[in-house]
Amino acid sequence: MTEETSCWILASIVSLEGGASGWYYAFCKDCKKKVLPVNDEYTCRRCGFIGSNPGVRYMMKVIVNDCTGCMNLLIWNNDANVMVGKSARAVLDISKNEKGVIIQNCWKK
Ligand SMILES: [Zn+2]
Repeated sequence: MTEETSCWILASIVSLEGGASGWYYAFCKDCKKKVLPVNDEYTCRRCGFIGSNPGVRYMMKVIVNDCTGCMNLLIWNNDANVMVGKSARAVLDISKNEKGVIIQNCWKK
């Protein structure tokens, strides 16, 4: 392919990055832009929001494989919600309560 286009693929997820920045990102509840923590506080560079409890969305980094090879993909929030069966906030809260449960343990059976 030489042009940008949309397509469907049928593949299996063979790897899911489970580290702290591998499956979700925090966003500003006011303007919805990504925010990064600084000393347990999140500051939005766009609107100036400062808080300790930002919104959380999935952005899962996965490797998929079909019968022709592997590729890296991102699975965004709406699709990940359906696949996992829990919101990113719910999984993050479970992770904090259970001191390190990883996203793979929350995957919908
Ligand atoms: Zn903002």
